[in-house]
Amino acid sequence: MPTLRNIKVWNTDEVIDLAIPGPDGEPDGDAGIDATGLTVAPGFADPHVHFRDPGQTYKESMASGCAAAASGGYTNVLIMPNTVPAMDGEPVEAGKPGADEVLGAGYGTVIDYLQHYGEAHGVDLPVRYDLCVCASKGRAGHEATELDRWWRYMPGVDDDSKDAAQLAHPVTAISDDGSAVTPETLDAVFALAKASGLPLIEHCEHHDTGAVNEGPVSRKLGVPGIPEDTELKIVARDIAKARETGVYVHFQHVSTAISFDAIRKAKAEGLPITCETAPHYLALSDEALLEYGTLAKMNPPLRSEADRLATIEAIADGTVDMIATDHAPHTLEEKALGFLEAPNGIVGLECAYGVCHKVLVDGGHISDARLIELMSVAPERLMGHEATDVAALVEAFSEPAPNEGSNRLLDLAKVDDPESVDLVVLGTDQAWTVDPERFRSKARNTPFGGWKVTGRPLATVIGSRLAFSRLG
Ligand SMILES: [Zn+2]
Repeated sequence: MPTLRNIKVWNTDEVIDLAIPGPDGEPDGDAGIDATGLTVAPGFADPHVHFRDPGQTYKESMASGCAAAASGGYTNVLIMPNTVPAMDGEPVEAGKPGADEVLGAGYGTVIDYLQHYGEAHGVDLPVRYDLCVCASKGRAGHEATELDRWWRYMPGVDDDSKDAAQLAHPVTAISDDGSAVTPETLDAVFALAKASGLPLIEHCEHHDTGAVNEGPVSRKLGVPGIPEDTELKIVARDIAKARETGVYVHFQHVSTAISFDAIRKAKAEGLPITCETAPHYLALSDEALLEYGTLAKMNPPLRSEADRLATIEAIADGTVDMIATDHAPHTLEEKALGFLEAPNGIVGLECAYGVCHKVLVDGGHISDARLIELMSVAPERLMGHEATDVAALVEAFSEPAPNEGSNRLLDLAKVDDPESVDLVVLGTDQAWTVDPERFRSKARNTPFGGWKVTGRPLATVIGSRLAFSRLG
């Protein structure tokens, strides 16, 4: 990897030269690449991805999902627990769907299996990942998971006895993502979160009927609708619970104006609450169902245009803390099943930055610097990590400019603790067209195919080494 000349440093006025060792740690070549107009920033982190492994690897696998993440500028992701079997810490029972993949590799639980995935499959996954444990056993909503089953996987618990893979891929959150915590398990799940100190990540939707947002579009399509207040009911319930217990609650993919209002008030009250939204809620309304069909079907559903505008406003005023993709791979055959039967969700990792940049930065709602913060610093914090402080690295380790008119050089081979440095190189103004055929993901289910966007991740750096590049 040659040195990148004249690259901007995120959140500063600084322009530097940046030398990045190659994937095997070999020093950079001597030729320089002109990186004028590019920005180096802390690597993106996605607190909400589904890699379908084990159990549904025809949709995605840890290998393809991580490759998609690296290509999208991500250096860290949080794996949701709706794997098959579910990631609930319980011993995997032979004969159940997905059990062979776990037991055949010699592991007893899904958590063990995913922590040691690289070893089990002889692959080097190109991004970091943490694990999110189920709130309820089997994600069935009848009985909370048992702390004893997953306590040891948390960071800081018995670290001396852990191997490198266990230390690298801890359990850092609790969720029944895909559905909300049920009334039946609510008290027990909040008690789990309280006892473990982990955030409770809530999928704030609870409904048994409906496939798309209730409104003119659902009526036009003749498809049963999901009322907007299904989201608010869970948000309001959990805000009350956070107030009562002090448990940190993070709301996933918030999509309605009325929920943002409730969260805004709760945050003003000082409650321990954060929230995310996803690129599709700020880029699309339920009108998109008419154009993209089931490629625009997700849960929560795309809402009204007023809700879309409220989402952007909530991002602009700081109510939204971070952006998550809810990367949800499905096959196009599954998506062709029609509005009632097709599974919910779209893939997001490989176009999230471009779509968000187009709507939020080009639209004049937030700055480039703020978008990067929403996609890196804030989600890392949710997972209990610190994003790389690029400005501090430059301050501490760059070599002085050799003469007037040249730049300071930051050589990543020469920093202290190189393992801790995760970065993304961004063409913040680079225009490109989303082409799902070129995704590293196994899946193609996105409504954004053919979209012209600006802002492209060009390289990811993990542990001070190049992990992915589309530069030169
Ligand atoms: Zn999800």
